Amino acid sequence: MSNSDIIASFSGNYFEARGKFLSACAARSLSVESRRNPHAKGPDGEELFTDIVQIGPANPKRALLLISGTHGVEGYCGSGPQIGFLREGRFDDLPPETGIVIVHAINPYGFAHDRRVNEDNIDLNRNFLDWSKPDRPTSDYGDIHAHVLPDDWDGPAMEAANAALAQYIADHGMPAFQAAISSGQYEHKDGVFYGGAAASWSNTTLRSILTDYLSDVETLAIIDFHTGLGPYGICELITAGPPRQKELAAQWWGADVTDPEAGTSSSAALDGINAMGIAETLPEAKIGFIAAEYGTRDVPTVLTALRADNWLYHKGDVDSAQGKRIKAQIRDAFYPEFDDWKEMIWNRAGQLVDLAIDGITQGERAQGERAQSVQPQESDIA
Ligand SMILES: [Zn+2]
Repeated sequence: MSNSDIIASFSGNYFEARGKFLSACAARSLSVESRRNPHAKGPDGEELFTDIVQIGPANPKRALLLISGTHGVEGYCGSGPQIGFLREGRFDDLPPETGIVIVHAINPYGFAHDRRVNEDNIDLNRNFLDWSKPDRPTSDYGDIHAHVLPDDWDGPAMEAANAALAQYIADHGMPAFQAAISSGQYEHKDGVFYGGAAASWSNTTLRSILTDYLSDVETLAIIDFHTGLGPYGICELITAGPPRQKELAAQWWGADVTDPEAGTSSSAALDGINAMGIAETLPEAKIGFIAAEYGTRDVPTVLTALRADNWLYHKGDVDSAQGKRIKAQIRDAFYPEFDDWKEMIWNRAGQLVDLAIDGITQGERAQGERAQSVQPQESDIA
């Protein structure tokens, strides 16, 4: 695609993105299933949908699943390549028994409102717990919640809150602070990185998409698009889920795949992640999972934007001048609207899709070759 075509695959808001997605599917005669979120509306009362398209055979044995908008506002990033792939016909000639499932905007409320959370202030990627059990993961978030959410977003209350957070970082270190604030918490529903108290609509919708579209899948690659961690435009491949899911991710996408639980990722280790929910929903499948995490701004800038947005919806006024400034801030923290950034997203996304399709279609053969190559050669023995 030309540079201008790449840029044109990205959108300025959820509704534009959805329109482009539906048009791109229609242009290739692909039928879309739209699932309406009955619990949420757009900024002007609009209906909100997660849209699903399937390319290739129904219930394929081998499949690639592309998910955008797990974290709402991060959906701009995933939507761009999803639309671009459809427009350029990248999936027109698939290998046999291989299918593609594209899930556009799994958290449409967050996408439409430029928020990372869903309609209940839930971080969807902390919401995939086993809710039938009474235990909830614990964290140190309670120690900082009052400072994360001060009464005012300026003046003495804000200064005192910032000083307290700076003291926490001085006492415990930045990694401990990042873990306390972002690893997920289940006690403060007006806090950041809140995991919820039950399975959210987006959670149950993703699970039902898996069982409806991928019930027969034997080998499944998943790319879940995210933004907000790491250097500007650079993509970190974060794997997650059961050990087998991580091994396949490293095999398909490369040894530089990172793992928060092994301490090799810029992300804190998390509970309630979608990668675990997917593994539970499709227990028979061989799954390789990556979160493609594209960098935007530095960590303090991103965390401040998230704090501000959380404050705005609990204690501020979205329509005020201050509210508009905060909305611009969170949008830029997760979607830097610059051509170079969009080109970086697109180029890496294309590579990741090619590697995924190679992985699910030739995984057995590549593994065999690797196994052979570590056998001692005759010359070595001699
Ligand atoms: Zn994310």
